[in-house]
Formats: sequence, C-alpha cells, structure tokens
Amino acid sequence: MVLLRPSQHWQQINRLAYLGHLQQRLDQQSVNALYRTRVELQSPQGVHITLASGDRVSFCSNDYLGLASHRDISSTIARSVETCGVGSGASHLVSGHSRFHRELEERLAALTGAQKVLLFANGYMANLALLSVLAGRNSTIIADRLNHASLIDGAILSRARFKRYRHLDADDARAHADQAVDAGDSVVIATDSAFSMDGDIAPLATLDRLANDIGAPLVVDDAHGFGVLGEGTGAVKHFGLSGSAIMMATLGKAVGVYGAFVAADARVIESLIQFARPYIYTTALPPALAAGCITAINIMENESWRRRHLANLIARFKRGAAQLALPLLASDTPIQPVLCGSSEAALAASRWLDQCGYLVTAIRPPTVPQGTARLRITMSAAHSDADVDGLLSALAEALHQSKSNGHKAPQ
Ligand SMILES: *Cc1c(COP(=O)(O)O)cnc(C)c1O
Repeated sequence: MVLLRPSQHWQQINRLAYLGHLQQRLDQQSVNALYRTRVELQSPQGVHITLASGDRVSFCSNDYLGLASHRDISSTIARSVETCGVGSGASHLVSGHSRFHRELEERLAALTGAQKVLLFANGYMANLALLSVLAGRNSTIIADRLNHASLIDGAILSRARFKRYRHLDADDARAHADQAVDAGDSVVIATDSAFSMDGDIAPLATLDRLANDIGAPLVVDDAHGFGVLGEGTGAVKHFGLSGSAIMMATLGKAVGVYGAFVAADARVIESLIQFARPYIYTTALPPALAAGCITAINIMENESWRRRHLANLIARFKRGAAQLALPLLASDTPIQPVLCGSSEAALAASRWLDQCGYLVTAIRPPTVPQGTARLRITMSAAHSDADVDGLLSALAEALHQSKSNGHKAPQ
C-alpha cells in the first residue's frame, strides 16, 4: 500500500471527484440515447467499405465526388512526399509555406474567380480565423440559426455580439442587422451555403444585397457546395455574388483530400495573414496534400460526369423516397436527411440499416435541434443506381420497423 502525504491525498480525491463528474456526464449521454461511438474503417474511404463486422454500402461520407481514394490523387501525394517530405514543419509565417501551397492558392483563385485565396489546415480553423478577424467587441455577427458549429465557435472567439436569425429568413436577418447598425455596431453576416445537416440552400442573393446595403461582409461557408453545386466552382461564382462576399470551403469533402481555403478580396486575405490567430499559430498543411488537392481539382473540373451522375442519383433517391412516403427534408443537394424525431428512433433506424448492409449514421442533438434527430443520407458520384434502390427498400423497412417499435413518428 502506498502512503500518501496529506497534500497528495487531497490531490487524489480531487482527481477522483473530477473523474466521477465526467462519468456522470457520460452516463447521462447513454440515458438520453446521445452516446457517440466511432466505426472503424478497414478499407479506404468510399461507398463500398469494410468494417470489422463486414462490408457496407456507405451513405454517410462527405466524399461527394468519390475522390477520397482516387488513384491519381493518391499517386500525386505519394510522389510529392518523395520530393518534399511529409511534414510542413512550421507555420506559414515561419518556414512552413511551400511552392505547393502557393500553386494551390493560385489554382483555387482562378477556379473560384476570387482576387486571392488563402489555405488553412481545415475548415473549422478557417471559420474561426474569418470571424475573429472580421468581427470584434464592437461588432454583431448575424447568423442563420442552423449554421455549422465552426461559425458559432468563430463568433465566440471574436467576442462579438451574436444574433441568430430564423433559418433561411433573410428578412429576419435584415431586421437584426438594422438593429445592430442602429446600435452603432459593425456587422458581419454569416451563413452556410448548403446547410450541413439539412441540405437546403441559403437565400444568398438576398443576403448579398443586404450585406452590400449596409457595407458588411457576407461570409459564405461553402463546405457542401464547393465541387458540387452548378459547375463546382463555388457559391460566389455559382450564385453570382458580389465581390464583397467571402467564401470559405473545405478541401476534405468534395475535393476528397484535406485542408480548406478562404477566397476573397485581397485585403481580406492579407488581413487574415496578418491577424488571424488560427492561421498564424498553427502548422501549415503538409505540402504533399496541397499537391494532391491540385490533382483533385483538375479531376473535379475535367470530369463533369461526376456532378451529372450525382444529380441523377439525387433525383432518383428523391423520386423513390416520395413513392415510399419517407419523411425527407426539402433538399436538392447530396445531403438528403430522413427525419426520425427522437434520438432513439434515429438510432434504431440506423441500426436496422446497418443490419441490411448500409452505413448511415444517426445525427442527434446537439448537432441538430431537439426532436429532429435524423438519418443524414449523403449521395456520392461513386454510388450506382442499384446502391440507391437498395438503400430505399432498406429505409422503408427501417422506418416501418421503428414505428411498430413505438418510437414517436416524425411529423
Ligand atoms: C465540415 C464543415 C466545416 C469544417 O470543415 P473541415 O475542413 O472538416 O474542418 C465547416 N463548415 C461546414 C458547413 C462543414 O460542413
């Protein structure tokens, strides 16, 4: 037995108290059907994947164009690692910025039509950077109620006042903006383009007009639009937004690799380089990944069949779901949520699909509002018509099963 001195003894008890507190919170997650677990892939990312328990058809990645394990991208990255090594070794402002980063930034600026582009480690950091530089203590950030968590956390980091408007409601946004302007605040408007958990699209043209009327920046998080909507060139070009719109997109979704970027006026980009702590105080993206992104963007641009096929799959899924009267949300994007209501119902449906060979994770609060737990189905250009048809029959079964088990039916 180890004898503890009194001070050590107290430390021990405090540590136990803290672990006990965590355990209580963890237990509560289980009670509320909110406990989250990770599935482990034993195969590359794709639509046909292997888990420890067997093969699945996956309908829940953000690999919208089927590029995450594309051979040409993998081999570009492998070759680049041979020539430039693995780690970037430093932040961009010290010695981590390479030719590959610059070339990708230039490629993205040409593609999106922006004056300048700045790369980030990932989209989460890019959003923190944007909002913390554009807004401060005397600002109000006007945000759609269903914006991505990274835009909410960016608002917290900025220390600005934070007003959320009703989902997709540009009039409500204008009312909040007018109030903030009257109070003497500078305003930043922020919205997802395609909403990550609902798949619907923000009224970007109207928000752009509002932003221009009051001389405020409009931050558009195009994580789910870039590479997918229209010609894949991003929300600003696709929706014809003005030069004051600032676009953020990730390189980890449709592009299939990792990283993110902001495309904007040169003065915005220069300000991010000078002032954005989530840019300055972090290691640069490995240069080989930047090289891989260039190959991915070339494929994205040259192989328009991927977007066409994806659009056909979305239409096929929506037609089938309508015939089966599945409770779909209104979305034309690859994000096709099926509303389940309670977390228990969403989990039960997800488990049923798993048994049928389909991987679709249940999305529960706080990721989505209470009572709107759902299956977030995502389509990829790598799916076949047969994959979609199979999912539809399994879904019909799953929801039927869930109802007969007495889970509250979604409204
Ligand atoms: C995924 C996502 C992000 C974060 O991008 P990462 O590169 O994965 O960090 C930001 N915004 C939205 C809307 C997203 O869906």
